[in-house]
Amino acid sequence: MTHKLRVVRDLARLRRQVAQYRKVGEAVALVPTMGALHDGHLSLVRAARRKAKRVVVSIFVNPTQFAPTEDFKSYPRTFEADVAALREAGADVVWNPPVEVMYPRDFVTRIVPEGPATAGLEDASRPHFFGGVTTIVCKLLLQSLPDIAVFGEKDYQQLKVVTQMAKDLNIPSRIVGAPTVREKDGLAMSSRNAYLSQEERALAPLLHQVLRDCAGRIEAGERAAGVLAKGRKTIARGGFVLDYLELRDAETLAPPAADASALRLLVAAKLGKTRLIDNVAVRRK
Ligand code: AMP
Repeated sequence: MTHKLRVVRDLARLRRQVAQYRKVGEAVALVPTMGALHDGHLSLVRAARRKAKRVVVSIFVNPTQFAPTEDFKSYPRTFEADVAALREAGADVVWNPPVEVMYPRDFVTRIVPEGPATAGLEDASRPHFFGGVTTIVCKLLLQSLPDIAVFGEKDYQQLKVVTQMAKDLNIPSRIVGAPTVREKDGLAMSSRNAYLSQEERALAPLLHQVLRDCAGRIEAGERAAGVLAKGRKTIARGGFVLDYLELRDAETLAPPAADASALRLLVAAKLGKTRLIDNVAVRRK
């Protein structure tokens, strides 16, 4: 028998459904997405299922996290295929709110995140981004009131920003990170990979290769500044326009103290018109 999956577009109905789950003692997990689902998203759904009996997946392309120059209009939308994949993956509810529910005409309240949201990484290239993300994620959490919410480490700064927001605002959902799912050649899966031309797709795995190489060198005791300088050159020579390649404290995302051991190496670069991001853990002894 195929899994019963409810597509919900009405907020009162979403709240009733979640309340029913809770009434019989079933834990609820939320997986926020913008659709155009790939195996990375589906791995979050599977992680959510391991932690909670019921899984709500939201699909909403959030206009406030895109700058006017970015790809909101052309962002891939594959709703029917997404629903089929979520049914297969065992999700219980697709929360697909109309824009009027998320941003009614008289909407005026926005979250202004700081700390990890002003670390000088994604926020440097996309100053509007984390305000949009935290506002929409806060709404999604308050709409679905999940026990846990699962986010990908692929968007590592976002994971830290959302964790901080939930803590600061006393939102009673546990924020959980899940590992990045990659193509066989190491490229992190992303809905935006669909924009890459064949040539660009062949170049794209370099980003992850450089991350791994730099992480290995730093873990082996090489000086980070020199390793990063070489890494930046390799990325530029590989045909990318680099936004950043930075080593940060894995928790605060601030520049790491000399004795910090849990680090994260993060990169963002453009390949043609497509902006790619990736990151890996670095453990210094
Ligand atoms: P998006 O639809 O791009 O907003 O992503 C929705 C969620 O999926 C976010 O928590 C992302 O971090 C996560 N995600 C996107 N790509 C991957 C991936 N390759 N591996 C794991 N999680 C991912």
